[in-house]
Amino acid sequence: MAISEQKQSFQLHLQDLTNRNASFLETIYALANGHLGVRASNPLQGNLRLDEGMSGLFVNGFYDLSHITYGESYAGYPENNQTIAQLPDPRYLVIEVDGERSDQTTFATRVVDKNLDMETGLLNELFEITTPSGKILQLSLSTFASQADDGIYCVSYTIRPINFSGAVKLYKQHPYIDQVFTRDGDIRAVSRNNILDRQFLNADFPAMQITTQRSQLGLVLMWRYLGEDSLVKFDRSDGMPKYVMDLDLQQGLAESFDFGYSVGRIHSLMDVAMNHTQYLKNANAHLEHHSFSTLFTESAHKMQEFWHNSDIRIDGDPETQKGIRFNLFHLHQSAGHDGKTSIPAKGLTGAGYEGHYFWDTEMFMLPAFIYTDPQMARALLTYRYHTLDEARRQARDFGLDGGAMFAWRTINGMEASPYFPAGLAAVHINADIAYAVAEYVQVTDDQDFLVKMGFELILETARFWQRFGSFGIDGPQGGKFVINKVTGPDEYSAMVNNNYYTNRMAQHNLRLAVSYAKQLKKSHPSKLEELGVTEKELQSFTHIADSMYVPFDKELGVKMQDDGAFNMEIWPFDQTPRDNYPLLLHYHPMRLYRHQVNKQADTLMSDLLFPADQDIEQLKRDFDYYEPLTTHDSSLSRPIFSILAHRILAHHKAYRYIAESILTDLNNSQGNSQDGVHVGNMGASWMEMTLGVAGMIRADRGLEFHPHLPVQWSALTFKIRYRGSQFEMHITRNQAHFSLIEGDQVTIYCDGQEVALSSKAPVKRMMTVNLTEK
Ligand code: BGC
Repeated sequence: MAISEQKQSFQLHLQDLTNRNASFLETIYALANGHLGVRASNPLQGNLRLDEGMSGLFVNGFYDLSHITYGESYAGYPENNQTIAQLPDPRYLVIEVDGERSDQTTFATRVVDKNLDMETGLLNELFEITTPSGKILQLSLSTFASQADDGIYCVSYTIRPINFSGAVKLYKQHPYIDQVFTRDGDIRAVSRNNILDRQFLNADFPAMQITTQRSQLGLVLMWRYLGEDSLVKFDRSDGMPKYVMDLDLQQGLAESFDFGYSVGRIHSLMDVAMNHTQYLKNANAHLEHHSFSTLFTESAHKMQEFWHNSDIRIDGDPETQKGIRFNLFHLHQSAGHDGKTSIPAKGLTGAGYEGHYFWDTEMFMLPAFIYTDPQMARALLTYRYHTLDEARRQARDFGLDGGAMFAWRTINGMEASPYFPAGLAAVHINADIAYAVAEYVQVTDDQDFLVKMGFELILETARFWQRFGSFGIDGPQGGKFVINKVTGPDEYSAMVNNNYYTNRMAQHNLRLAVSYAKQLKKSHPSKLEELGVTEKELQSFTHIADSMYVPFDKELGVKMQDDGAFNMEIWPFDQTPRDNYPLLLHYHPMRLYRHQVNKQADTLMSDLLFPADQDIEQLKRDFDYYEPLTTHDSSLSRPIFSILAHRILAHHKAYRYIAESILTDLNNSQGNSQDGVHVGNMGASWMEMTLGVAGMIRADRGLEFHPHLPVQWSALTFKIRYRGSQFEMHITRNQAHFSLIEGDQVTIYCDGQEVALSSKAPVKRMMTVNLTEK
């Protein structure tokens, strides 16, 4: 692909998108940096009305509680919803022309253009504004969320009168925030009230503290003018602190004003140490000596680092190229890196799923970070460690005398799902976390994390399985260890006995606890003592893992999703109208539960994660059985099918799944991108490229690759970090080319051939492998 085409695929122009719905565009062009996220809304709107979009700022981990009202409330049900707070829009601007103000009367706003430069993270937008008396102005915004300092977001406004010359006043102030937003009819959206308290702070720039009513969290937000124009005056005479720009504009001539926004750390209202004066001084100092362009240069530099390590280059397929870059961009900007936050399923681009963290982080997003940005991966796992005490409490409340039971969906660590069959019952989350910890440790060799946090996470989740499951009575399972009444990944079945995926993952979790305990016994015996690990306990883990029951249909030769799965009727697909998908929005859950129908990959997830469990024939049988039953109503599903299709050498199919899933948000194919992007799907698209097209498998001897390039492409290139080294892999039709980028040496395997790379002679830094026909 020519260089200019490659550059083009970093640009997301408005004309690339067919959907022009305001809320959709706000999501797609949202900017974030792991701490804060800002939707790309109409800057004059400033409220939270849904009909004209849903403007707002999200701060990772800043949520409020609301009481859950149950018709019938049973013991142990969660008491509170946790909902990410939708905060005042930092892009907000009030325009006054001829005594008419945009916050008092409607100024028609038309989006003329939007362009996101993903390479630097700069968003440029152009709006045409018409006042009620017919005056036309162009307003352009250049914005970025700083990747260098995650408390900073900047906006530069340029205003130009089109059909008049004369007085225009601009007010840069915080919008009113007393609105409430709800969206009915789609359980994937957000449906709670947003009630926040606001207090203006004493400063010579607009600053305020926002507090939540029930979660008792506080946050300081402030604006600072970044230029030196004396036309920009700070004013708080009417009680609303703001910058006022009193302008005399000439038709066709533009004036620009730059502002820096600072979003503080979340603090608890109990935290008496919080000192606003000090905070404001620091935040101000951060912005004061900077201009928009210096702050942008710092941020763009960080973006460059990100692309250097994480870019995936596809030659020959510009659409997929843009799609994957867009996905990587959002994945990166959504990740909380303070160890106290994770990645909401919708990132920081919308309030969908209430801003909750799910297994999506560990199973679909973390692989990309583990192999490209291990520090971020560690931070995300640290978040789980941070909530470990809460998970221990949940296990006790559930009646278990040990172990930890993690929440299925949460922000603060407590379970927030009011519907336990698709909430707390999804206990596989515990093994998912343990699996992710071990993958991280294996790939990075971060022993420090293992000792400080990782082992405890693995141990406490293993203890959970030991208590949650049981040795069944002699039945079809023959006295084996069984795990009953759980919900697996497929949410179109619930409360089943012996979900294959769950049992296999639990077995792995128990084995991990034993093998890491053995390792630490030698290196850090005091750690085992501290955590009360005994020989007897480890023996019990081994015994349970060895006795774990996994359902299998001998006649069909297929792994069974759960004990009763194959006795049920198949869903009447031929009588289901296209418009009735996703099924969850049209059919009572119990109706779905009584059929063989899958929302997403379930047993096949196990085949994906444990490639050594089955040969290709077994994988084919599993794939062929489950594929026709799967609706892919979850955006997490297709990428998994793509990777497995690659493994069974169904290459056309593998590509079809890529083509259908890579543009999930850009095409709004799930129909709900207006509520936020699908970050799990975006992380999974990284997996499609590496585990799928490049056929990467983490085997006992190290990383193996079994590449096969889609016929539509001419090359695929990406970088991988593995045990302290970084290498690049470049795949063409017949060859794979490896080069060591960082570190001393690395050995990998490609199509059975050993690839040893080293920075020291006589071993070479580069090697080319001729690929076998697949
Ligand atoms: C999926 C879950 C996922 C959740 C959040 C649901 O539709 O079934 O697996 O965790 O969305 O993305």
